[in-house]
Amino acid sequence: MSGTCLIDEGYQIRGVVIGNSKDEVNVFTKTTVEDEEKKVIVMTNETMYIGLAIDKTKIFNIQSEKMGMTIHEYLIKNKLHKCSCNTKF
Ligand SMILES: [Zn+2]
Repeated sequence: MSGTCLIDEGYQIRGVVIGNSKDEVNVFTKTTVEDEEKKVIVMTNETMYIGLAIDKTKIFNIQSEKMGMTIHEYLIKNKLHKCSCNTKF
């Protein structure tokens, strides 16, 4: 998910995900032996996702030489961001 936009409930860009990880823990295991040839193992796991994102105010001002504009201008130009920012970038 790194590089993915972090979107709020109004589908506005809030930031960019720069890293994430997943950690899974077994919280319950039940083994049932029905006979010598059949054994049923039921496992319940809990999975936790941890992500780190940068707020848009830290990236919108970045001037890209390759694009010839700021990230904010690029997103607007390519219709990836319908600007309702209160801050000028
Ligand atoms: Zn904006």
